[in-house]
Amino acid sequence: MLLTVDNITCQYGDQPVVAGMGFQVQRGEIVSLLGPSGCGKTTALRAIAGFEPLSAGHIELDGHVVSEPGHSLAPEARHIGMVFQDYALFPHLTVAENIAFGLRGVSPADRRETLHHMLDATGLHGLGARYPHELSGGQAQRVALARALAPKPLLLLMDEPFSNLDVELRERLSLEVRDILKAEGITGILVTHDQHEAFAVSDKIGVMQGGKILQWDTPYNLYHEPSHRFVADFVGQGEFLLGEVIGADSFQTELGVLKTDKACVDAIGRKVDVLFRPDDIIPDESGDILAKVVEKAFKGAEILYTLQLSSGSKLLSLFPSHRNHALGEQVRVRIDAQHLICFPHQD
Ligand code: ADP
Ligand code: MG
Repeated sequence: MLLTVDNITCQYGDQPVVAGMGFQVQRGEIVSLLGPSGCGKTTALRAIAGFEPLSAGHIELDGHVVSEPGHSLAPEARHIGMVFQDYALFPHLTVAENIAFGLRGVSPADRRETLHHMLDATGLHGLGARYPHELSGGQAQRVALARALAPKPLLLLMDEPFSNLDVELRERLSLEVRDILKAEGITGILVTHDQHEAFAVSDKIGVMQGGKILQWDTPYNLYHEPSHRFVADFVGQGEFLLGEVIGADSFQTELGVLKTDKACVDAIGRKVDVLFRPDDIIPDESGDILAKVVEKAFKGAEILYTLQLSSGSKLLSLFPSHRNHALGEQVRVRIDAQHLICFPHQD
């Protein structure tokens, strides 16, 4: 294990903003901390970097305790690289000088080699002589990444690194960053409130709420088997319908009795909220559910329809894009109930 964050608490004054948080990262893995603004992501990352003291728990990096209450190894002694949202490049240094900045103490020959390698690896070839104000946002963020990677850190921490970039660039750059880290064999932690970014980059994701990790899992499991309603809501799209548990694997809903192969979280007779992802609602002209199109979002290959049942409840469904229905039109769907998940009912 490269990093163990064990039950850490960080507080500002007497207000804990990271409260008993824990996770582990293996060498070469890329993980994300995903959660809404204010949930403690930056504080947790700063604690790992050595900028925030712990009031409980400990952090172990590469086999050594680097943080515990009353003791903190200095940030510069941790061999951790950091990339922030606002690139923070040195404006008076060229791209090459920025990237080589962390290589003091390295021989000139090694320095040149690392510089060329980093320019190549981050797609900045030919831009070494430019100044930061001559770069696009995406290029500047690549320089920040190259600068953080050049000293070959044990661990790279990235705090919302793409949030100043437009959506398309953000997606492309997140995939690129994943490729670069994997190619360089660098372990990384990304902090973000954007699930698409977390999904594109990560092997594992910790979904945070109120200074804690609610679920630490693969992107696939977070989407398909969220352990908390908050996770289900925060990750991916979906709608909840009220149900009542009538058996270990079945519940009664307004759409009839549905049987899932996931264990239901509540006892027989209890009310539950059943999560329906768009991929659980299948377009089917002979389907037994009739619903009205109340919203549509064109996604290219697919259209995401918001459908309303006669009761007023809503469902989401992905239709092949050529099935172009107008608002107000009635369409038929069926449910693929096998993967449905339910949570204790919330009023
Ligand atoms: P995130 O990065 O998830 O948005 P932060 O870790 O920045 O969350 O902040 C968590 C909580 O701690 C927020 O309520 C924030 O207002 C508070 N906070 C952050 N930094 C400080 C600080 N230096 N002093 C006091 N409170 C802070
Ligand atoms: Mg933050």
